Amino acid sequence: MTTNHELFQRAQQLMPGGVNSPVRAFKSVGGEPFFTARADGPYLWDVEGKRYIDYVGSWGPMIVGHNHPHVREAVERAVKNGLSYGTPCPAEVTMAETITRLIPSIDMVRMVNSGTEATMSAIRVARGATGRNLIVKFEGCYHGHGDSFLVKAGSGALTFGVPTSPGVPKANADLTLTLAYNDLEAATRLFDEHGHDIAGLIIEPVAGNMNCIPPKDGYLQGLRELCTKHGALLIFDEVMTGFRVALGGAQAYYGVTPDLTTFGKIIGGGMPVGAYGGRRDLMQQVAPSGPIYQAGTLSGNPVAMAAGLAMLELIQAPGFYDQLAARTRLLTDGLQAVADGEGVAFSTNRVGGMFGLFFTREKVDSYAQATAADSALFNRFFHGMLERGVYLAPSAFEAGFVSSAHSEQDIADTLEAARGALRAARA
Ligand code: PLP
Repeated sequence: MTTNHELFQRAQQLMPGGVNSPVRAFKSVGGEPFFTARADGPYLWDVEGKRYIDYVGSWGPMIVGHNHPHVREAVERAVKNGLSYGTPCPAEVTMAETITRLIPSIDMVRMVNSGTEATMSAIRVARGATGRNLIVKFEGCYHGHGDSFLVKAGSGALTFGVPTSPGVPKANADLTLTLAYNDLEAATRLFDEHGHDIAGLIIEPVAGNMNCIPPKDGYLQGLRELCTKHGALLIFDEVMTGFRVALGGAQAYYGVTPDLTTFGKIIGGGMPVGAYGGRRDLMQQVAPSGPIYQAGTLSGNPVAMAAGLAMLELIQAPGFYDQLAARTRLLTDGLQAVADGEGVAFSTNRVGGMFGLFFTREKVDSYAQATAADSALFNRFFHGMLERGVYLAPSAFEAGFVSSAHSEQDIADTLEAARGALRAARA
C-alpha cells in the first residue's frame, strides 16, 4: 500500500512544497498532508483507507457533498459528447441565463477558469471603464494570486506571513490601496483623499480568507455609498460566498448591489470554473463587444458547464439554505458548548454554510482580532481532530464549510472528536 508519507516524499521532489496550491502542504499547522484517494458525501478517504469528516469541501465548491450523483451523471453525459470544442456551446447560454436569473445585479456574465482569473478580469473592467488606476482592497482578504491582490493578502499569503510576494512589481503594488476590514471611517478617509483616482473597491462581502469574518451592520451599505459618491466601482468577490451564504450570494443576504461580481468554486460544481459579471453597460465594454480584452481557450468548457449547472440545480431546492444554515449552526453552537465545557477561550462566526473558529473569548470582527487569536492552540486542535477523523482547514486563517450532506450524526461525531481534541490540545 502506498502511504501518505511516501507520496509526500515523492511529491516534494517534484512539486514546490509537494503541492499544487500552498495551503494544502500543512505548513501552517505543521506535519504532513494526507493524500485523498476518493471522496463521497461529507467524507474523504486517504490512500491508507482512513476516513475524514470533511469541513473543507475542496475549499468551498462541495456544498452538496462530494461526488453527488446528479453532478457526476451530468458530467458523464457531457463527456460522451467530447471534452472541449473551442466554439460556443449551448450549456454556456444556459449557464449565463441561470446566473443572471439568480443574481439580479448581473445583466451579463463572462465565464473563466478560476477565481483568480475572475478577479483579475473584474479589476481590468473597473480600470478600463473608469479610466482610473487605483484599486482598493482589504487587509486579510484574498482574491487569488494576481499581482494586484498580493498586497496584504489573506489565505496562504496570510498563513505564511507574506504580505506581498517577490515577483510583484512595486509599481504594480503601488496601485493597490489597502484598508482594514469593517472600518468604515478608514474607508471614508481614504476615499476623501484618493476617491477621484479609484477605479474600484474589491471586497469579500463575508471575509473567508482570514478565518470567517462577517461584515458589521451597515458596513457594505456604507462602502456602496462611498463608491457611488466617488464614481468608483464596487466589486464583490463572491468566489467563496456566491451560492454559499444564500442562493443570491452575500449581495442578496445583505441587500447590497455591487457593480461587478466574481464567482468561482460552487459555480463549477468541482470543475475549474470562475465567472465575472455585472451591469450591462460595463460588461459590454469587454471584448469582442468592447475594447477591454479578456479571453480563454477553455472558458465555458462544456464538461465544466455541465457540472456547474447540475450544482446550481441542486441548490435551488426549496429550503436548501435554511437547512444548510441550521446544520452549520448545530456545528458552531455545539463546538462553543464543548469549548465552554472544557473552559477553553473560544468563539465562532457563521453565515449560511460557512463558519469560523477562533481560540479567543472575543467575538471576532476584524483582521487584528483574527490574527491575535491563539493559532498555536488551533494547530494542536487541528491535529487532534485529524487524528480523530475530522478534517478542518489546515490553517487558523481559513473559513470552514458545511455541506447539505453532513448529517446530524456527522456533526455529533465531530463534537465528540472536538471534546477529545480540546483536552489533548490543552494538555
Ligand atoms: N477570491 C476568493 C474570495 C477566494 O476565496 C479565492 C480562492 O480561495 C479566490 C478568489 C481565487 O480563486 P481560485 O483559487 O479559483 O483562483
